[in-house]
Amino acid sequence: MSENLIASDNVNCVQILGVPVHSVTTADVLHLVEGYMIQRRLHQIATVNPEFIMTAQNDAEFRQILNETDLCIADGIGLLMAGRWLGQPLPERVAGSDLVYQLAELAARHDWSLYLLGAGPGVAEEAGQILAKRYPGLTIAGVYEGSPDPSENESIVKRINDSQADILYVAYGAPRQDKWIARNRHNLTSVRLAMGIGGSLDFITGRSIRAPRWMQRAGLEWLHRLYKEPWRWRRMTSLPKFAYRVFRDSGPARR
Ligand code: UDP
Repeated sequence: MSENLIASDNVNCVQILGVPVHSVTTADVLHLVEGYMIQRRLHQIATVNPEFIMTAQNDAEFRQILNETDLCIADGIGLLMAGRWLGQPLPERVAGSDLVYQLAELAARHDWSLYLLGAGPGVAEEAGQILAKRYPGLTIAGVYEGSPDPSENESIVKRINDSQADILYVAYGAPRQDKWIARNRHNLTSVRLAMGIGGSLDFITGRSIRAPRWMQRAGLEWLHRLYKEPWRWRRMTSLPKFAYRVFRDSGPARR
């Protein structure tokens, strides 16, 4: 690895309720990825938000996976607030739904091919076409809806290996997508970067609409999502629970 590329081991990380969150900007992530891609092994990125952390409180397997993930990026304003509260501020939010574009652009530039796994019928295929059009030179190695059910592991891994993909996006929602990657990472022979991307393919294809930029900047993207997809309200109760736990567990010294 060339000297000016940084390794994740050298990146500061803030422990939030037992989950590591790396202190990186988007530029750092792209720089790290360039380093990952010249190594042989697969690196995993997780786009951590308060929901991930609350799920990890009661799901030891998920917590362990996040602790073994190469890069956990802060994909939520709640994490930035928690970092500040804990006296270890994180530099910025790195949204997975932005990173899917930035990594596709980087892939086009370096001639790394991309495989899109998951999302509803026809979504990955359409998203692949949109990305290939947007970033000329980008190779979509393959697309497949599949299912996160372990019974499909072997056949999906074979498809991806046959495609010789360099980068893999997995759109099964958390924690399924991150568990899928962790479970199969050692059998993926060509992939050097795998990232769980939640509903990003739905955003790319316009099936879901992201919050306007001003809401994203104001840290209100969650409110927009709740307004557009009200069935999420139960999942979103994890936000106040997260805030309470960070406050409670930070100890009297902090307060
Ligand atoms: N999904 C899937 N198979 C499944 C469950 C989910 O392909 O068995 C897809 C779903 O179609 C969606 C994505 O996983 O495109 C994740 O959606 P969600 O909005 O829940 O993820 P978030 O962005 O909240 O992490």
